[in-house]
Amino acid sequence: MQLYVVGAGPAGAGAAYALGRAGFRPIVLEAQERLAAKPCGKGIPLLRDVPFPIPKEVVLNEIKYVATWLDGEPLFKYGGEEGYIVDKADLLEHVFAEAGAEVSFGSKYNVRSGTARVNGEVVEVKAGVFAGGFAYYDGERIPVVQYLLKGPLKDVSYETIEVHFDTEIMGYYYVFPHGEDVEVGVGGFAKPQRLWAMLDKFVERDARLRGSVIAKESSAVSVGGVRLGYVRGLPKAGEAAGYVMPLTGEGNRPAAVSGYLAGKALAEGRDPLEAQRRSPITRGVELQRRLLEWTKSMEVRERREVIASLPPEVHAEIALGTFRIPYMLAKLISRPGLMLKVALKLLRG
Ligand SMILES: Cc1cc2nc3c(=O)[nH]c(=O)nc-3n(C[C@H](O)[C@H](O)[C@H](O)COP(=O)(O)OP(=O)(O)OC[C@H]3O[C@@H](n4cnc5c(N)ncnc54)[C@H](O)[C@@H]3O)c2cc1C
Repeated sequence: MQLYVVGAGPAGAGAAYALGRAGFRPIVLEAQERLAAKPCGKGIPLLRDVPFPIPKEVVLNEIKYVATWLDGEPLFKYGGEEGYIVDKADLLEHVFAEAGAEVSFGSKYNVRSGTARVNGEVVEVKAGVFAGGFAYYDGERIPVVQYLLKGPLKDVSYETIEVHFDTEIMGYYYVFPHGEDVEVGVGGFAKPQRLWAMLDKFVERDARLRGSVIAKESSAVSVGGVRLGYVRGLPKAGEAAGYVMPLTGEGNRPAAVSGYLAGKALAEGRDPLEAQRRSPITRGVELQRRLLEWTKSMEVRERREVIASLPPEVHAEIALGTFRIPYMLAKLISRPGLMLKVALKLLRG
């Protein structure tokens, strides 16, 4: 039987890659006319989980540091894990080619009829993976808005990603290199108009960034945690199933992993939902979601205090969703009160 993958984003790439390795030749249905049309910062902060090789040619920047600020004050600079900023379209193209998958552009899968148009013909999609992204997610979503700045910019480090926490909107500004250019954005619990106004101020305040905007874009990100299910018999994967880290909005790696797990299980005749549910990436998303709930319940002052008190190693475990709990608690030993609160949140929900 012909297998299909709906959506040619990272989740679709993960699914196609797993199916390709198992000897299938999936057809990938992509509604848009090109890859990576959806706005994205193109960061992959943790490489070891990514289920397909990332060739050097698609890497725009190698990231060695994360530098953080809290409500305008410098917090720390940390160099724990190596990450990449990638040319997302090139990466996806490479993965689909490696998978031996055919990508059919302008092929919107019709959820009502279960059909799509491929090479001028209507096909019935009977089996495969659904990876259509945030629009099909029924949990909480927040807006993210971003500017592309023409570089190279003086005093911007091209091997660092900057995270500027804003405790008012429970979100953060980011400054990501993008080859020689720079992407600056903000995501959080606020309306897009407010985020644009905040981003304008942020760029205006920073002499490094001011006056270089060449493009703007915005979209949404699913932060409600994992919600597994089916769309007309196709198991959901990626952001459609909530595979985004709720605190950071990181979706490329979680989506790719989830798509891969769903595709592999399908190829092996196992339950794709169960395969995703039992994975470490699900644990990472779920624990972040718990911490997001906790953060939401805090007064701004407490939120500020908690963020400021966590050592960089603990920030990294949380941000990457790796959550080595004994290691994290050991790092918090000098702050027993906070250690207890974190332990209770992570272990008991
Ligand atoms: C502004 C912004 C910046 C971000 N920056 C980062 C970042 O730096 N790092 C990171 O890890 N994450 C980032 N994210 C999140 C990340 O982009 C997504 O979580 C990730 O792309 C999700 O992958 P996916 O494959 O599940 O969905 P998508 O990438 O959304 O792919 C879904 C695909 O399905 C297609 N599609 C939709 N409906 C249909 C249909 N009916 N038929 C056929 N095709 C369909 C879409 O056109 C799309 O190509 C960012 C998000 C935003 C909004």
